[in-house]
Order: sequence, then structure tokens, then C-alpha cells
Amino acid sequence: MRVAVTGTPGTGKTTATDALAARAAADDSPSDRLSVGDSTLKIVHLNEVLEDEALYTEVDEDRQSKVADMDALEAWLEGRDDVLIESHLAHHFAADRVAVLRCEPETLETRLTDRGETAAKASENAESEALDVILGEAVDRHGLESVYEIDTTNRTPEEVASALEAVVTGEREPSAGEVDFVGYLA
Ligand code: ADP
Repeated sequence: MRVAVTGTPGTGKTTATDALAARAAADDSPSDRLSVGDSTLKIVHLNEVLEDEALYTEVDEDRQSKVADMDALEAWLEGRDDVLIESHLAHHFAADRVAVLRCEPETLETRLTDRGETAAKASENAESEALDVILGEAVDRHGLESVYEIDTTNRTPEEVASALEAVVTGEREPSAGEVDFVGYLA
């Protein structure tokens, strides 16, 4: 099974996935693997793969970011089936379930500036979050039956990890469009 964990930068994908992995480690399994029923999912931080394997087409100096080579990432993922893929790009690839982490835009902006991002980048991401950009892309590609929206705004990383675990185990029902952040744009 393949699970994608996506969301605007700052929604807490890395933090929640790490919390989930730490839980698995407490059960004596290696920390990059999650045991679910009879299967084990390897956790793939796709942005690290992009860096380590140089799977980008160019470096955008203005944005201080790398432009992902989507075909190369797709090829890298080929045959890797029992994985949990964490990245803001994860919903662009084949997956059985897609968790979309959400965060109220002003809170997201604060999280990003606290993390050291520029004000411009933080506000660009907050606007994108208010417009449901990633949720829309995820639903377009995977359909409502495969998307699981998780609002992280007032949840601790542990609580978000529990919500993710419920997606992986199948205990959570699909959902999309339950949050409404457009007030941010007014
Ligand atoms: P992403 O991987 O989605 O870009 P991170 O996991 O790096 O996001 O989290 C972005 C920032 O927000 C970090 O500084 C992190 O400590 C903080 N953060 C993450 N999850 C939460 C949460 N549930 N509540 C409050 N702050 C959080």
C-alpha cells in the first residue's frame, strides 16, 4: 500500500510523520518503518530524495528552491509500493490514500516565519493554503474517495500523528473541504 502525506509547506508533514515514526520505534521497529497489520511501510521523505539523488531540473535562485524533476521522481518511486511518501509533491504520484494536512493561514504564516522562512515565502504559502490549492490538486488526481483532510491548526504533532495512523490503518473515513480558510483573503 502507498500512502501520500501532502500539504502546503508548514502544515506539519515532517513533524507529524516523525512523531509517527518515533511511535513505531518505541515498539522496537526501525524508525523509518511503520507496521500496519501484516505490512510494513517505509517512510520516504521525498524532498530528501530530491536533494540526495539530485532529482531536480533547475535551481530557482529567487525562491531559494529547487524545481523538482517530476518524471525522475516518478521513476524513482516505481516499484516502491509499501511506502508512506511525505512531501508537498506527494499527491502528484500514484497512491492508495492521500492525507492532506491543513492549517489556518495566519497560523501557517507564523509557523513558517518561526521556522526561518522569509515573510514573502510565508505569505505566498498562506495564500495558497487559503485557496485550497493542494487539496484541490489531490482531489482532482485521486478522487474524493481517496483523500483524507486533516486540520492541524489546533492539534499537537502527536494528535496529527494519530490522525495519520488512522488513515494508514483504514480507521478514518475520507474527507475533503471541511475546513474553510477563505476569510484570510478578505
Ligand atoms: P512541513 O513539513 O509541512 O513543511 P514542518 O513539519 O516542518 O512542516 O512544520 C513547520 C513548522 O511548524 C515547524 O517549525 C514545526 O515545529 C511547526 N509545527 C509542525 N506541526 C505543528 C503542530 N501540530 N502544531 C504547532 N506547530 C507545529
